[in-house]
Amino acid sequence: MTKLHSNLKSPIERGERRVEVPTGIWLGTTCSDASDGRTFAVDDPATGEVIAQVADATRDDWMKSLELADRAAHEWAKTPARTRSEVLRSIFEAVTERTEEFATVMSMEMGKPLQEARGEVAYGAEYFRWFAEESVRSAGRFAPAPQGNGSILVTREPVGPVLAITPWNFPLAMATRKIAPALAAGCPIIVKPAAETPLTMLLLGEVIAQVLEKFGIESAVVSTIPTTNAAEMSRDLMGDPRLRKVSFTGSTDVGKILVRQSSERLQRTSMELGGNAPFVIAEDANLDLVIDCAWQAKMRNGGQACIAANRFLIHEKLAPEFVERITSKMDASVMGHGLDEGTTLGPMITRRQRDRIAELVEDAVEKGARKVTQQEPPADDAGYFYPPTVLVDVPEDARILHEEIFGPVVTVSQFCDLDDAIQRANCTPFGLAAYGFSENVHTARKLASELHAGMVGINRGAISEPAAPFGGIKESGFGREGGSEGIEEYLETKYVAF
Ligand code: ADP
Repeated sequence: MTKLHSNLKSPIERGERRVEVPTGIWLGTTCSDASDGRTFAVDDPATGEVIAQVADATRDDWMKSLELADRAAHEWAKTPARTRSEVLRSIFEAVTERTEEFATVMSMEMGKPLQEARGEVAYGAEYFRWFAEESVRSAGRFAPAPQGNGSILVTREPVGPVLAITPWNFPLAMATRKIAPALAAGCPIIVKPAAETPLTMLLLGEVIAQVLEKFGIESAVVSTIPTTNAAEMSRDLMGDPRLRKVSFTGSTDVGKILVRQSSERLQRTSMELGGNAPFVIAEDANLDLVIDCAWQAKMRNGGQACIAANRFLIHEKLAPEFVERITSKMDASVMGHGLDEGTTLGPMITRRQRDRIAELVEDAVEKGARKVTQQEPPADDAGYFYPPTVLVDVPEDARILHEEIFGPVVTVSQFCDLDDAIQRANCTPFGLAAYGFSENVHTARKLASELHAGMVGINRGAISEPAAPFGGIKESGFGREGGSEGIEEYLETKYVAF
């Protein structure tokens, strides 16, 4: 029986909007307090006010989640793929039905404008629909042995209990792109959401628990453990032989720690880490299209995305018009609370993050960059707002060209030779996304093949797509999420000699 303890719910409200959100730890379909009763505060980055207290999981709680996942693993792996598919399809429908609730909670805890939050619900839910369709297609293969003395049978089996660790910038989608393929493959999964934004995942925990109850599935195939002790949690769980897989989205520094930790038990790992995406605009690019795409690639989520364009490299002939047009588009941003009418740019996630962006901009200006625009942030200092900013003539040694900005700052550098631009674009230890713009098919193909990244957008500013493999190369990590590749991360290959 699902135990949705109503006393572990908290109202999240602003104006007319009100959503009851679970605030406990989901151990399978049971929501409960932390074993020591402690909680931590979640705040609204637009106001700095505390909006909920959430259970702070302890060692007992996360070890319990692993014990339950281990117990669920066999049964879930043996559940027919068709049933798993129908569970996923039902989750897709239930999340979609509750779009307004999810969007409200996400805007409140993360700060993104409501319209973008709705977009994330559609995008995040789509992973369940996509992997509902993939779960019945994990084919193996059969071949006669060349010596004629037997057969080669290759099957695909679920890897086992998974730990998913997710960041705050897309509180729903970063979790669904791990949960959906894990469940599709037949793996139970434990989700550790970011402490800044646990509420969206806790609401998803409720939706999943209700769907599982409808299907009569009682074992703990999904658990959610909010905690402020992420490092201790990952060390404990990864030190245990029952955990077989870790899927992480977050910073490169933490990714490296997790890869090192995985060596102890040789868990499978998928690492979706930081980026430093170049946005290369060739001489023959269509500037109308460039401006729209630059806006999307830079300003979605207030620039707080690992695939956000970090460096704009533009042919010198187009540079003056590009700077003028992108500046007026940036200037038209309306900063405010994500749930307020008309807001197009929400706050940064934390004060620390906001101050870090300010530091990067100051460093660039000190080294010679020119700041073309900067609106004033809202007058009171309560929320963590950073105004949209354009920097031109950014010198190569400015930190902002080498670190992920994660904020609404456009940096412009010019080039006259495309090969030189591509070389500069690739001159980074990261390789997640890259963007190239040209109306000439040969130039477009050159950009597609020579930009070093796991994902390249050609004449496109939005590249995220559940049906496509998302992931990076070099220090942006390894493994892919989405597409037919996404489920592979949760499957082992078994060879049977017949
Ligand atoms: P950011 O700087 O954007 O918050 P992080 O990489 O620090 O990115 O965080 C991404 C996720 O990783 C969050 O859920 C965070 O709690 C978690 N995390 C941070 N440090 C560790 C760690 N040592 N082990 C496991 N998870 C961690």
